[in-house]
Amino acid sequence: MNLQLNENFGKIKPSYLFSDVAKRVREYSAAHPGKKILRLGIGDVTLPLAPTVIRAMHAATDEMADAATFRGYAPEYGYDFLREAVARHYASFGVTVAPDDVFISDGAKSDLGNFVDLFGDVPVLVPDPVYPVYVDSNLMAGRTVAFIEGNEENGFLPSPAGLSKSPRLIYLCSPNNPTGAVYSKEGLAEWVNYALESGSLILFDSAYEAFISDDSPRSIYAIEGAERCAVEFCSLSKTAGFTGTRCGWTVVPASLSDGTLSPKKMWERRQATKFNGVPYVVQRAAEAALSDEGMAECMANIAYYKRNAALIAALLEKKKIPFTGGTSSPYLWLKCPGGRGSWEFFDYLLSEAQVVGTPGAGFGAAGEGYFRLTAFGSLETTREAVQRLDKLL
Ligand code: PLP
Repeated sequence: MNLQLNENFGKIKPSYLFSDVAKRVREYSAAHPGKKILRLGIGDVTLPLAPTVIRAMHAATDEMADAATFRGYAPEYGYDFLREAVARHYASFGVTVAPDDVFISDGAKSDLGNFVDLFGDVPVLVPDPVYPVYVDSNLMAGRTVAFIEGNEENGFLPSPAGLSKSPRLIYLCSPNNPTGAVYSKEGLAEWVNYALESGSLILFDSAYEAFISDDSPRSIYAIEGAERCAVEFCSLSKTAGFTGTRCGWTVVPASLSDGTLSPKKMWERRQATKFNGVPYVVQRAAEAALSDEGMAECMANIAYYKRNAALIAALLEKKKIPFTGGTSSPYLWLKCPGGRGSWEFFDYLLSEAQVVGTPGAGFGAAGEGYFRLTAFGSLETTREAVQRLDKLL
């Protein structure tokens, strides 16, 4: 081949954080075959899909087996029944979203990565530490990414105070991965006001909204004016255990505009060109997850994970290890004890307790010295890990 490749790929780190973690665990396992390893690292769910969801998938599968009810290509933006179910989901916590502004996706990651197709060479602002997709998808497109630091002083919830009022693409994630920190209404309102004043656009990732246990906003659209300055990405991955089933949505309000171009119209055009929709069976499953019965079952699963989180949180409190998250999030973000570096602490836990977590440094420079544990394991695994850490730390 003699073609010029996208050299921007040279700017992203060659391997993905979780591949690095998996490699170290593989190497450790190979060297210590008798040791039982407990994984509190990767952010994947472990509980099966809810019964209501499974029933809907079976029924939809049967429809696909009958010529009278068979479906071919799905509408690019999603079936109306699901767009409406998503709007009802927002209404259930007091937020108004028009079904027509809802774009059904195969999960938040794809749309977070794809949405940047709509922009030219704009400045991008990303919190640090952060879910790596925001950074890498912009670097691949040749954009320069600036960071705003989350730290102990701001509770890992950076604010726009002090930023110059120039337009930028701003990523926010609440509840946050990796820190588990959650913006209050006032905290998010600061960002919305900043975006309106500066002509910026917020790309808001609400993938963990279902974990919120207090009155913190579950959507950026809970904030007045956000419909004029924000796009929201959400997913059933963590809400309903859809990490392998794949369904989410993106809200692109019709009221967003720069005066000439409409991001909603552009997104419609982009999706119609490059996306052929989410499978019918999956959209019916998603509709079922968002029904009252389905959501009650999903919330029971979330309660199970939160119980795990509470066990880990109790240990950290007992050991006086500073941390955020764990109440409105499946993630606990802790300061590595003894001033250790993130990878140093990773190796320490792996070798001394055979517990796997995620080094904070993998989420950005500001994550160095921190470590992420997740509540997505089984209760048994979590209990055993907590016992081992209790002895070790
Ligand atoms: N956004 C955040 C903050 C995440 O942590 C994840 C997955 O871990 C995603 C988006 C991706 O979710 P999905 O499975 O919907 O692609």
